[in-house]
Amino acid sequence: MELSAQILEIFGVYAFAARSALVLSLVAMAIYVLLNAGIFALPHMGLLAVGAYTATILSLDAHVSFALAVLGGAMAGMFFGLLLAALLGRLNGIYLAIATLAFSEAISAAVLNIPLTGAAQGRVGIPRSSSDLAIVGSVVLAMALLLAVRRSRLGLSIVAMREDALMARHQGIDVFAYRIGLMALAGLLCGLAGALNVHVTGFVEPGFFNFGLLAHMLATVVVGGMIYVGGALLGTIVMSTLSQLVTVVGEYQGIVNGLIIMTVVAFAPYGLIGVVSDVIRRRHVFDGSSTPNESDASFLGAPAANDETSLKTHDRKYRQSLSAHGGEPVIELTNISMSFGGIHALQGVSLTCSSGELLGVIGPNGSGKTTLLNVISGAYDPTGGSGVLNGRPMKDLFGSPHRMARAGISRTFQTIRLVDDLSVRDNIAIGLHSMDEGVPVPAIPAMSRRDNEVERLLHEHGIAHLADVSAGELSYGLRRRVEIARAVASSPKLLLLDEPTAGMDPQERADVFARIAALLFKGMGIIVVEHDVAMMSQYCDRLVVLDFGLVIASGDPDGVLREEAVISAYVGGQGVSQ
Ligand code: ADP
Ligand code: MG
Repeated sequence: MELSAQILEIFGVYAFAARSALVLSLVAMAIYVLLNAGIFALPHMGLLAVGAYTATILSLDAHVSFALAVLGGAMAGMFFGLLLAALLGRLNGIYLAIATLAFSEAISAAVLNIPLTGAAQGRVGIPRSSSDLAIVGSVVLAMALLLAVRRSRLGLSIVAMREDALMARHQGIDVFAYRIGLMALAGLLCGLAGALNVHVTGFVEPGFFNFGLLAHMLATVVVGGMIYVGGALLGTIVMSTLSQLVTVVGEYQGIVNGLIIMTVVAFAPYGLIGVVSDVIRRRHVFDGSSTPNESDASFLGAPAANDETSLKTHDRKYRQSLSAHGGEPVIELTNISMSFGGIHALQGVSLTCSSGELLGVIGPNGSGKTTLLNVISGAYDPTGGSGVLNGRPMKDLFGSPHRMARAGISRTFQTIRLVDDLSVRDNIAIGLHSMDEGVPVPAIPAMSRRDNEVERLLHEHGIAHLADVSAGELSYGLRRRVEIARAVASSPKLLLLDEPTAGMDPQERADVFARIAALLFKGMGIIVVEHDVAMMSQYCDRLVVLDFGLVIASGDPDGVLREEAVISAYVGGQGVSQ
């Protein structure tokens, strides 16, 4: 009799610990949701309190059912998540962290002064209904949702915005809208956790939502692996088991926890799951034969760099003989100016590029070439001038990379911007973002259509054998090729290439230019910035020459390169040689 009572008591203690741990794993998931997207916001304690107090008041004062109280808590959390996102969503880094911590402080202060919260004493007598099913159900559902998102196109877009927000915006990803959605989701999860928790403990008190709990939850996520969905759950299991084990060290528990966290952060920044997936990946590389080696000709794909005929088929003179040069204007810029303080990087630049036309932009360093591409791709809002894209004024597109991308402008960057930890396949898939617009999240048909499209691009760009290799492991030339494949993934109307052959040898350059020219047959217009004047005049239909932000010449390459102004702009520079 006594023994069974003892067993029950021990069981009761562990059951309580397990329930609390599961509830807190929802907070860990909320931390994952934000950190995984590169959002360094820490509103979790405040959102947890909002959920807890909403559910308490609904239960004790409105006498609603357990289910309604929990739903109310979750909704309140989501509402505050949305509110925070609207108010603070444009902040970044430490500013966002501090502002969201301040939000939690404000909630604490509010709790002490709002009636019905029970102020400093808190409130007791919240029905401890049989909530196990609700807890397990919530955790399973939340986990399933996060996994579904992870595997959908959304998941890939979230990784893209975490790794490189600017690049992500140029792929058509509305980073601000994503941040709002993710903050709302974090609010929902925290609100749910708070509401469930008061029904587990039967009481609520303001001291619970303190910085210590936040630190513990952050540690949980970091130990598990902050960029993995399972990291939140694994971290919760490990940390709560540890805290059961290390109760023997009593008051030193905090120190032991601290040491564990420091060790993990120092030696395994992606947590326990990171360590495991590293081991698996390493074994995979040893087994697999797919280590890239660019000197192997088979890696270069067609057309081979020294294959004269395949190169010639795409140069300017050949295309002109087919009259395959230029159709309707894709873009018309009029009098575009761009100043940075006192620096006039562009001064009244006007140009046109038509579909099927390769327009080359040359000019000395600092003449405004990159700035021009930044204006066209929406990175900068020009200080003057106007533009028309496919017959539509560009007024609302300037300064908004994701809108520009969705309107059909795609680009590569002067310094390559790939996500090194993602495979070549996933890097290219990021470029398909703007194509799927309007398709609901885990839509299976859209996914398979996207997969087919990625396979097609991999083959077309001669990188199919590298599909599963991490982009970071590729040589420079291959990285360029992946970036171009990503840029054309969305079938843009206008493609912008900023020094796509910089740092390459002449053979590689010829290969890249042949590939670029081949894209013209798809009907897109292409604007390319490059220093290799000989290559530019061989391939481009027209050249625009910039100097100090001014167009000093434009037109047929042979004519342009003979102009006095162009020659003198280059004197002392790279020199104009053909
Ligand atoms: P290019 O690509 O032709 O070498 P850029 O377009 O990068 O030249 O730069 C043109 C001029 O504008 C340079 O004087 C450069 O210092 C200036 N510039 C470019 N971007 C910025 C910026 N974000 N802030 C201030 N100055 C800039
Ligand atoms: Mg530049």
